[in-house]
Amino acid sequence: MILKVLTRTERMQTTSAVSLLKIEPATGLLVGVRQVLSPHFDARPSGSVPELIVVHGISLPPNEFGGPWIDRLFTGNLPVDAHPYFRNLASGRVSAHVVVRRNGQVVQYVPFGERAWHAGQSQYRGRVGCNDFSVGIELEGGDDIAYMEPQYQQLAAVIAALLAAYPTLSREHIVGHSDVAPGRKTDPGPAFEWRKLTALLR
Ligand SMILES: [Zn+2]
Repeated sequence: MILKVLTRTERMQTTSAVSLLKIEPATGLLVGVRQVLSPHFDARPSGSVPELIVVHGISLPPNEFGGPWIDRLFTGNLPVDAHPYFRNLASGRVSAHVVVRRNGQVVQYVPFGERAWHAGQSQYRGRVGCNDFSVGIELEGGDDIAYMEPQYQQLAAVIAALLAAYPTLSREHIVGHSDVAPGRKTDPGPAFEWRKLTALLR
């Protein structure tokens, strides 16, 4: 095997590149990512535009990764009998715009122009019902388990694409689910390193 010594420029390219993602404005879909369209969405109320990004953590069952269950939950096909934890979830109709899996794979479930059902009862700076005016991004993870480096990279790439496509969004309005539903939700949890995300978005 021949090991190539990277030049300084090549090194910078490999370390600093948040991969580029693009959103097709007409459809609100990320180009080139896996699409698993969810029936769990509806139109944003008239006059509502995306103004807030909500970061979540999810794993099914809790703290187990890699199964098909997030897809199944968001598409209304979660089998109640596959795990005791699923019994409480199967009746709920939920979704998010995007999930970033442990390996950084991005999956889109709802077009960004539509309202995904991710935040539930929630409030941001006095405005209730955050689903109306937010984009929901789930990281596959648990509150107290370190999120993976490719997840930070791809989360930043999705956010950069969103900021480019929707001028009503901004870096200043990115929060965790626990920030808009305190006492009810804890995700993405203390394991999520906000400073890491901020650094990637600079
Ligand atoms: Zn959440």
